[in-house]
Amino acid sequence: MADLKDITLFLLDMDGTVNLGYDPIDGAKEFLEALKEQGKNYIFLTNNSSKSASDYVEKMRSLGFPCESENVFTSGMAAGMFLEENKKGSKVFVCGTRSLKNELKNYDVDMSETGEDADTVLLGYDTELDYKKIRTVCDLLDGGADYYATNIDMVCPIEGGRYLPDCGSFADMFEQAVKRRPRFLGKPDRTMIDIIAKVQGVPYENIAMVGDRIYTDVKTGINAGVTSILVLSGETTMEDYKKSDVKPDYILDSVKDIYDAIKGGNYEE
Ligand SMILES: [Mg+2]
Repeated sequence: MADLKDITLFLLDMDGTVNLGYDPIDGAKEFLEALKEQGKNYIFLTNNSSKSASDYVEKMRSLGFPCESENVFTSGMAAGMFLEENKKGSKVFVCGTRSLKNELKNYDVDMSETGEDADTVLLGYDTELDYKKIRTVCDLLDGGADYYATNIDMVCPIEGGRYLPDCGSFADMFEQAVKRRPRFLGKPDRTMIDIIAKVQGVPYENIAMVGDRIYTDVKTGINAGVTSILVLSGETTMEDYKKSDVKPDYILDSVKDIYDAIKGGNYEE
């Protein structure tokens, strides 16, 4: 287990980790500023593929956090890089938002607008889903197309403590019809961390994954073989942690504890 002081790249979940909705978590801003001061790096990782990286840059800045486009990595970007590297020559039907398709234009991904000539399906958190797209995906999957999805999340939290079905729920819907499951490229798959480690040229022992969800954030870190840090500032309680068979390297109250550790103070494990 790496000492927190040896971590040079912190991969950070957002909601529940550095912010709660529109409120920054106490100490998060100081933590990010300390990383910058010490010449360390941080990247916000999100499974949400319905929005583009620039949407998140804006959101993080509105919370008062220092954030440039290189500080954000979405499951849509991971899908773009994955398809570019592994599916050359394929024609991809994207069941996703216009924003996701725009993101994919940054990569060498050949997209099929109608799906007619596609041999690969990429399912995203499609907040613009309609029956025509559902039909196209089913036809392609029935015909044996390769099948990927951006993220496994079943629900997306919205304001007022309510939820909407997310990409994982859409995948379940298609499974009912065509008995196929996609490979999910977002957290907890290690794909996002592998891509970042390669692009940034940072060894795995100097990377930490920080988040408030055990089965996505912590699991991603464990799957990729980097240091995993659970923060109790969001969804997971100490009770949940005790019941879980997934064990992070560190369990901390919030990112403020990481700030204390890298600043040389004491933190409680
Ligand atoms: Mg979270």
